[in-house]
Amino acid sequence: MRLESWTSLPRSQVQDYRHYYWTDEDPFRNAGSTLLARGNGQSYGDVCLPCQQAVVCTPLDRILAFDRTSGRVRVESGIKLSELLAVTVPAGWTLPVIPGSGAVTVGGAIANDVHGKNHHWAGTFGCWIERIELVRSDGRYLCTPEEHPELFRATIGGLGLTGIITWAELQLVRCSSAWLTVERFPFATLDEFFCLSEQVEEHGNYVVGWCDVSTPGKYRGIVSVARFCDDGDFSTPPRHVPLSLPPMPVSVFTRTTVQLTSALYYSTMRRRVRQRMHYTDVFFPLGRLPWNRLFGRRGFFQLHAVVPRALEREATHAICSRLWRAKVPLPLCVLKRFGARPSPGLLSFPIEGTSIAVDLPNHSRSVQALDEIITMVASVGGRIYPAKDAHMASHHFQQMFPQWHQVERLRDPRCCSQFWRRVTSS
Ligand SMILES: Cc1cc2nc3c(=O)[nH]c(=O)nc-3n(C[C@H](O)[C@H](O)[C@H](O)COP(=O)(O)OP(=O)(O)OC[C@H]3O[C@@H](n4cnc5c(N)ncnc54)[C@H](O)[C@@H]3O)c2cc1C
Repeated sequence: MRLESWTSLPRSQVQDYRHYYWTDEDPFRNAGSTLLARGNGQSYGDVCLPCQQAVVCTPLDRILAFDRTSGRVRVESGIKLSELLAVTVPAGWTLPVIPGSGAVTVGGAIANDVHGKNHHWAGTFGCWIERIELVRSDGRYLCTPEEHPELFRATIGGLGLTGIITWAELQLVRCSSAWLTVERFPFATLDEFFCLSEQVEEHGNYVVGWCDVSTPGKYRGIVSVARFCDDGDFSTPPRHVPLSLPPMPVSVFTRTTVQLTSALYYSTMRRRVRQRMHYTDVFFPLGRLPWNRLFGRRGFFQLHAVVPRALEREATHAICSRLWRAKVPLPLCVLKRFGARPSPGLLSFPIEGTSIAVDLPNHSRSVQALDEIITMVASVGGRIYPAKDAHMASHHFQQMFPQWHQVERLRDPRCCSQFWRRVTSS
């Protein structure tokens, strides 16, 4: 038996693990010496991998309460965001923060304090959490910003280290349709990306940039701006069957095919200026594609960094140039700008600035580029996203997240992950 993260990197796998399914009994009594809660394994690195072959799955996936007037919902932590949205959207409420995968669970969304395409007005997932029940090896805790406030802040973005979240209460936001209008604006250079994004970052908009890093110098791309329609249409589109593929022995991406497909995508999308799309297609664009399998058995890395506002232009340009010089296929590069709303968690990733997420094949040239880029990001006061990381050195993590000491103090001594062991050793 093998437990792995979403990227299938050999280094992010655990052999011979044991599942301890949640029962009402104390999981800490049944499991080995340390354990780790597991959501749905949608993290790219080792934050979702236990140290000692013990992992607690929480098949707790019920909606416990949903007030359709106030939009407050109480859910068990194992419910997937797509399942929750399927109930709340037809009632006129959506999640305030939606990451790029609907298979993420509420527990995983809290533990990595995830963000969406609307950080400029909504902040992170944790900004909308009102209460959490946490089971620790020494008992159950109800955590709110007022009750056990330190534990509350350490659990949001706490990477599963403070205990097992059993349920959470959160506030939803209104939506008047299940459909969004999507407008697309091509940009020819990174400077144009920054100007365009600034102009469209209004309340209620979801903004994301796709950038072609396969052609040097220019880094052209498309900014997409989505907004919920106001038409009361809660219909669902015809179901698309997800594409299923056998595991690929090697990566399907080469530099030439990526250059060609990027050019094709750019020229198609720049002409598709305005479109009406169902929320599932806007928020979960990779949902129909087994993207993680396309990199073959060796798997892939994702570099997901944020650089601070004052240096975002130079730093983003430097990252793109270094990536291009790695001479590896770079099939996906996503740019998002984070706003000023502070993240509530001690280890939350977002800071005000620009985030860049790039998939790189597992290759020695990618590793070299990652090393240099992570050093550069650290030197400008930026951060690497723990949920996506499988590579950063402990000294970089500790420099980027100096509050890690506080989380270590509040960590349940019976909870640990391979990530935590990696970045706190030394
Ligand atoms: C296609 C894709 C797109 C993505 N897009 C985004 C994005 O736009 N923005 C973003 O922020 N992230 C994004 N992510 C990353 C993803 O949102 C996070 O990694 C998320 O935490 C995964 O949730 P999960 O439920 O699968 O948890 P897992 O990956 O299984 O676990 C993640 C962490 O949560 C902890 N955890 C899980 N359940 C509990 C619980 N009940 N109690 C305590 N701790 C728990 C685990 O211990 C672990 O540390 C994306 C991932 C994919 C695959």
